Formats: sequence, C-alpha cells, structure tokens
Amino acid sequence: FSTATAATEEPITPPVQINYTQLLINGQFVDSASGKTFPTFDPRTCDVIAHVAEGDAEDINRAVSAARKAFDEGPWPRMSAYERSRILLRFADLIEKHSDELAALETWDNGKPYEQASKAELPLNFVKGPTVSNVIDCDTMFGYKFRSSTNAGWADKIHGLTVPADGPYHVQTLHEPIGVAGQIIPWNFPLIMFAWKVGPALACGNTIVLKTAEQTPLTALYVAKLFHEAGLPPGVLNIVSGFGPTAGAALASHMDVDKIAFTGSTATGQIVFELAAKSNLKPVTLELGGKSPFIVCEDADVDKAVELAHFALFFNQGQCCCAGSRTFVHERVYDEFLEKSKARAMRRIVGDPFKSGVEQGPQIDSEQFEKVLRYIRSGVESSATLECGGGRLGSKGYYIQPTVFSNVQDDMLIAQDEIFGPVQSILKFNDLGDVIKRANATRYGLAAGVFTNNVDTANTLSRALRAGTVWVNCFDVFDAAIPFGGYKMSGVGREKGIYSLHNYLQVKAVVTPLKNP
Ligand code: ADP
Repeated sequence: FSTATAATEEPITPPVQINYTQLLINGQFVDSASGKTFPTFDPRTCDVIAHVAEGDAEDINRAVSAARKAFDEGPWPRMSAYERSRILLRFADLIEKHSDELAALETWDNGKPYEQASKAELPLNFVKGPTVSNVIDCDTMFGYKFRSSTNAGWADKIHGLTVPADGPYHVQTLHEPIGVAGQIIPWNFPLIMFAWKVGPALACGNTIVLKTAEQTPLTALYVAKLFHEAGLPPGVLNIVSGFGPTAGAALASHMDVDKIAFTGSTATGQIVFELAAKSNLKPVTLELGGKSPFIVCEDADVDKAVELAHFALFFNQGQCCCAGSRTFVHERVYDEFLEKSKARAMRRIVGDPFKSGVEQGPQIDSEQFEKVLRYIRSGVESSATLECGGGRLGSKGYYIQPTVFSNVQDDMLIAQDEIFGPVQSILKFNDLGDVIKRANATRYGLAAGVFTNNVDTANTLSRALRAGTVWVNCFDVFDAAIPFGGYKMSGVGREKGIYSLHNYLQVKAVVTPLKNP
C-alpha cells in the first residue's frame, strides 16, 4: 500500500469553518432543553471537531410543536405550488454558491473523499443546471442526481383524479400533504439522505422534523440554514441532532407526527416500525440494509467488469446500503477476474480524504471500524482466501486496507451479513439458474448488478432478481427520477422521483351528488 499516506502525513486542515452546532427549531438556532452537547469526531484523527447540541425527547416535542403549528396555521401548505417551487429553486442556487464549504464540511465530519463530495454528491444531488452533465461526462461512474430543482418541478404537478363511480355522483380525489413528517437519516451520505428525504416532503407541502445521525450532524444544519435564507417559513424544517434511542425513538413514537421516514440498518428499521405502530400507526417508509449481488457473466469484458465490481463495493469506503457485496463470477472468467480485482484493490489510493486523487478515506467511527475488522477476521476463520488487505492502515484514524476475499461460500458470515466496509467477497458460479437462486437467497433485496453483453442474459437476470434496483452494465446510477428502495428486509416504499411523492401525500375522496337532493 505504497499509495497510502494516512499513517505518515499530518492531516490537511479543512477549508471551512463550523458555524452551526445548535438545534434548528422554528427557524431559530437554539440550545437543547437539557443544555447537553455531544462531540462529533474527525474520522481521520479521532479528534473532536465540534460539540453539538444534543436533542432529546423534550427537544423533539418542541420541534414537533413548531412543525405542527407551521402545518396547521402557517403559510407553507397553503402557499401556491409555484411559490413553494420558487423557494426550492432559490435553495438550489444557494447550495451551488456554498458547495465548496458544504463538501469540505461533509468530508471533515464523514471522511469521504473531498473530490467525490464536491464534484459528484453536491452538484448532482442538490443543484440544477449544466454542471450535472459535466460531472457525469468527466466521471461516468457517478450518476447521482437528486436536484432540489427536480422537487421544485414536482410541486405543481401533484393532482388528484376524477373517479367514474356508479350513481349520480361527482367523485374526485384530492392529494393533500400528510402533515408533520418525521425523518431519521444515517451517516454514510448525510447530504444525499437529507436531499432524498426533505425534497419530496417539502414539494408536497409538508412540514418536517429531521433527526440527523449522531456521527454526522454538521452539514444538515448548514443546509437547513440555507433553506431559511431561500425563504422557507419558520417551523417548516426543524433539525434535531442527537442519538437514536433518545431523539430518534421520541420522533418515531410521537403522537403528533403524521409520517415517519427512516434510512439506516434493518435492525433499527424494525424498532422504528414498531414504535410507529405502537404509538399512532403513522405510515412508515424504510430504506434499510442490503447484501447486493454483482453478477459477472461468462461473456463479460473482464477489465471493465473488474473496475465496475470494484466501484460497486469500495465506493464510499464500502459504506453503501446497496454495495455490490457479493461478487459472483462465472467460472470461465473467475481466475482472471480474481487476479485483476486483487491488483485493482492494491492500487486503490487510500489516504487523507482532503488530498487530491484519494479514492478512499477512513471509516466513519470506531464502532464501524471494529465491526469491519471483526468481519475480516471471520472471513479468515471461515477459510475464505484473503487475497489482499485484511487489516488497519496506519496507526491513526479509522483507515482500513482495501480487502479482497476469494473462495467465499454462501453460508459464510461475510457472504450473509452487511459488512459496510472495504471488503470484497468473490464467489464462483457456473450456471445462470444456480446464480439466480444463490443471489436471491438472502433476507435482503435492495439492489443487484449484472455484467454481460448478452441481452437474453441481462433480461433473464433483471427479471429474476428480487431487488428494488437492477443495474445492468452500470452501478450506483441514482438519477433523481429513478425510484430507489428495497424488496424483503431491505425496506418499505420507494424514494426519489414520482414514487417518493406518494409517501408524503394523503388521498381524500370527495363525493358530491350531481343534483342536490
Ligand atoms: P448504524 O448502525 O449504521 O449507525 P442505525 O440504523 O443505528 O445505523 O442509525 C441510523 C439512524 O437511526 C441514526 O440517525 C440513528 O441515530 C437512528 N437510530 C438508532 N437507533 C434508533 C432508535 N432506537 N430509534 C430511532 N432511531 C434510531
């Protein structure tokens, strides 16, 4: 790992200041009711970056009251769709203006490569305009698009139906905002998760209480501030930083929250679902874990397949719910694929995420770092072959060597559990019917990758795989219009595009006699 600089060099000073660390309730930055704070850490060094107000049940109550008032009495749900749309567009412009600072803050708090945050995640997720195609052209691997301009465009396209009911009645449906939306997001893509949740909820006219992940509270506060600069009325978007079992659970079980949306682990998703059911039966959308197959067929161009499979797993330090974490390779190309995958992983540039050219930064925190190392040990113990990597990188921060296992069997823990780290598991197959069964033999069903030049194979696999997304000869393409979500224990409901609007709308049937009785 001659490319790794993590251990030896002084960390680069992030080019950004931290201005917002309080809770954002009713348009104001405020301390938590208890006055408590918690530290957020730099994953490069394990040093504290800032102390952030720690929201608890009482702060959730305050935030929900503000959101309730903004929904019941405020202008937001009553505003014309055009006005809402204009505020979302102004917000997109502000994001563009501040994208360098936001990308720096995201890298500092999360550890992801700055170039990835600034060139791909921000422009493609928040900002409208020509930068999108520029970025896609210069880095075709990144297809992220979830621009707030897209949601601005939806705001005036939400309409009901007229229903041809039997009898002398005029029947119409009204699609109304659902009310106060609770949203709980994870740490792996703090800004993208914010965008996927907040955009459609606002476009539909809802108000929001959003709880960020305790590992990455900083960027959402900054972005929410920009939303207010863009003209969002107070109380429409409230941000509570804090921990899951306290603030998160209080939000999921709140009697005055009308809907809860959650992204995170499957185990926590089950808790959130239960809290929602036990309290007021609020509807729930969940985007959870995965163990996505990436299937390399016998006709594949091996060099391209190696690069794409590498990207599918290692992108974002392997911390993607849809990571292609079971690489199934046809026996005819297996040996060549394996050698080249190992060489590619060994060439991967790991180091300070602020340094230009770095592909992989540190894992998010000590818990995830230790968990990934435990899974690597489990792979070795279960007699998968460790081809490269396998340990920590350097002595400071949460860096892990890009790791490749071959000879992985379906029943090994590393082939069943979500590792959420830079650990590629390569499995061999020899028959399409067999790989379909094996790919589907998991409790998850978030995504799948298929690599083939044969259109029949592509069609057969994309229909047979039980997953919310099948990427054929591509991976991680996240255009704003493409729905994303899971089958089985990978989730409930879909985010992005037209499908995401259904999560934030109530349907009201209005029935009127054609003639007054
Ligand atoms: P991870 O294990 O990767 O950190 P989690 O699913 O625990 O993923 O976290 C995702 C989000 O869920 C975070 O914002 C976290 O604070 C929140 N969370 C964790 N536990 C709970 C809980 N019991 N109730 C509600 N939210 C929770």
